[in-house]
Amino acid sequence: MISTHLTTNRKPRPRDADLVFGRTFTDHMALIDYDAERGWFDPRVVPYEPLALDPAAAVLHYGQAMFEGLKAFRGANGKVQLFRMDRHCRRMADGAGRLCMPPIDIELMREAILALVRVDSVWVPSSPGTSLYLRPTLIATEPFLGVRPSKRYLFFLIASPVGPYTGEAFAPARIWVEDKYTRAAPGGLGGVKAGANYVASLAAAEEAKKRGYAQVLWTDANDHRSLEEVGTMNMVVRIKDEFVTPPLEGTILAGVTRDSIMTLLREWGFRVSERTIGMEEIISAHGRGDLREMFGCGTAAVITPVGELGWKGESLIINNGQPGEVSRRLFDAITAIQYGRAPDPHGWMTPVD
Ligand SMILES: *Cc1c(COP(=O)(O)O)cnc(C)c1O
Repeated sequence: MISTHLTTNRKPRPRDADLVFGRTFTDHMALIDYDAERGWFDPRVVPYEPLALDPAAAVLHYGQAMFEGLKAFRGANGKVQLFRMDRHCRRMADGAGRLCMPPIDIELMREAILALVRVDSVWVPSSPGTSLYLRPTLIATEPFLGVRPSKRYLFFLIASPVGPYTGEAFAPARIWVEDKYTRAAPGGLGGVKAGANYVASLAAAEEAKKRGYAQVLWTDANDHRSLEEVGTMNMVVRIKDEFVTPPLEGTILAGVTRDSIMTLLREWGFRVSERTIGMEEIISAHGRGDLREMFGCGTAAVITPVGELGWKGESLIINNGQPGEVSRRLFDAITAIQYGRAPDPHGWMTPVD
């Protein structure tokens, strides 16, 4: 049972047209504590406020932290539903072990998500492209400076009403193929939504921006030849009628959007391959005119088409810099399910009543 302490001080809500990603937060948050003796305990919804942390808390020194990201949508009928909540909960529980954190109790996490969305349901926006972004986070809170796993943790869940991720919907991005920095190495943390992966990626992204690119295409840590992810999204390339995405071998995050896209593509009769793909193959397919589409996929934007790749001083324009035809179809199909405009044959949506 989750206890609920409602705020007496509701905040003003931004208009849908003014929403930007991750800037405003709702009136409440959910918290669950953990210690070795009690396991997960005291699940509660409380007014949104700063956390009180001991300055010696392990997370502040050694980065023992991970997070999730999922969304609640308001359908045309006014009802709110969550996209693939169970898969996000399972991914958080499964990933914790790599960071020596206790797996979150999936049932408690589900309850916390549903409780927070119910309490703050007026914050789920309704204009096209808007949603309530949910950010479950797990941090190490034991005040102790020795380097070993913490004995205490805090799970917290905050929520932010968001507009379409990119200002201009579906505008193809210019992407820099990174051949100096590494996001994730074999045996590292790349397969987990660890905060540490994001700080590792900042310098490359900043340098790419200075060169006029929106994001980087990560390559493997060994020789920077095979392609891994686009920014914080999974990568998919269409060569003729084959859709290729790199395999999940530890350096790549197992995206929920990636999984949803592969499911739809297979149902639509396309060949989907999880295999290694390198720049040589991309360049030769491009030269033959077979590189039909390329995109990144993730919860925030669903699909971000790649219009141009910058690599070793050269520029490859993909599909004349236009979004691909199947990219568009995938975006439309997934958003139609999310907003309840299309049936949900896979059971991806969880209604919040
Ligand atoms: C979150 C994330 C993704 C996308 O995962 P979704 O579950 O589709 O949101 C892809 N790559 C990285 C590195 C991520 O952190």
